[in-house]
Amino acid sequence: MRIIKYPHPTLRHKSKPVRRVDADLKKMIHQMFDLMYSNNGIGLAANQVDLPYRLFVMNVKCDPAAKEEEHVFINPVILERKGGMEEKEEGCLSLPDIHGQVKRAKKIVLNAYTLSGEEVTWEMDGMYARVAQHECDHLDGVLFIDRLGPASLLQIKAALEDLEVVFNGERQRGLIPDDQGIAARLNALEAARA
Ligand SMILES: [Zn+2]
Repeated sequence: MRIIKYPHPTLRHKSKPVRRVDADLKKMIHQMFDLMYSNNGIGLAANQVDLPYRLFVMNVKCDPAAKEEEHVFINPVILERKGGMEEKEEGCLSLPDIHGQVKRAKKIVLNAYTLSGEEVTWEMDGMYARVAQHECDHLDGVLFIDRLGPASLLQIKAALEDLEVVFNGERQRGLIPDDQGIAARLNALEAARA
């Protein structure tokens, strides 16, 4: 398992709800936490590790010892956005060294399932609300750069182009399949858990 970077097509995949949670999926989620911690992240969506599952992991303390902050959200749905909007700087493990000011709702009401199959509805604010909105975007194939204004986008244009050059190089070396190959793999994985 590895974190894929912009402009990998899986980052644009709109994930369908997961219907089957088994030992295999739990193992993948465990690996996602490990990867998130080793990259100093506070949230990670399944399609960032090239998996088409509608789930994300989060630990806003970025500390593996803070188990009470470790959360898995399966099939998350934002039921409500409230409290007005707030602009804050964001980054993303799939867009290394790129940052931008993103406007998001201050508070949200999030419904999801936990790893043990329990349905939870959680009112979030602060960092929790921001991370959850960022990760839910991922599951719809949306990146934070899609939410930047034209001036901010211009500032990161060169950095995005650098990532595109790296991606194209990896593809030319056969390290990344073509678009059809990627789509076929995602569809097969998705069908196995539908
Ligand atoms: Zn991200």
